[in-house]
Amino acid sequence: MKITQDHVALLEFELTSDAGEVLDTSQGRQPLAYIHGKGGILPGLEKALDGKTTGDEFKIRIPAEEAYGKYIDGMEQRVPRDQFPAEMELLVGMQLQAKGPDGQVHPVMVTEVAESEVVLDANHPLAGVPLNFAITVKEVRPATEEELGHGHVHGPGGHQH
Ligand code: ZN
Repeated sequence: MKITQDHVALLEFELTSDAGEVLDTSQGRQPLAYIHGKGGILPGLEKALDGKTTGDEFKIRIPAEEAYGKYIDGMEQRVPRDQFPAEMELLVGMQLQAKGPDGQVHPVMVTEVAESEVVLDANHPLAGVPLNFAITVKEVRPATEEELGHGHVHGPGGHQH
């Protein structure tokens, strides 16, 4: 069966950076399940999957601009260390929730920890990173009425309810 509009596809994938670092993988867990044509996955990836069938294996590189966006300078914020609880361990690469001036909570990443201050970056951790996917299509089937109504996949790799 081919992956077309309103079909469920189950994918095994490995996501690596250009340097070959594994950023994410389905290995050791359920395959990724999505409904085709609903914009639930990155548009470049969805386009590449169009018309693929069970057993197909392929690789695709998605430029940063079509994935999590370019890295934007000036989104760092220097915060005095004493604004964090003293017992809190702060490590580079750690993700935190920060309240912005608008009162909204945004995810930020710790990029520098000094004695007196901490640098937080509001860019997405994968901003500026081209994504290299290695994909294997494990299963393709039509989505059920219920799945289309809910907008998500039921069963393995999807919602269990
Ligand atoms: Zn549901």
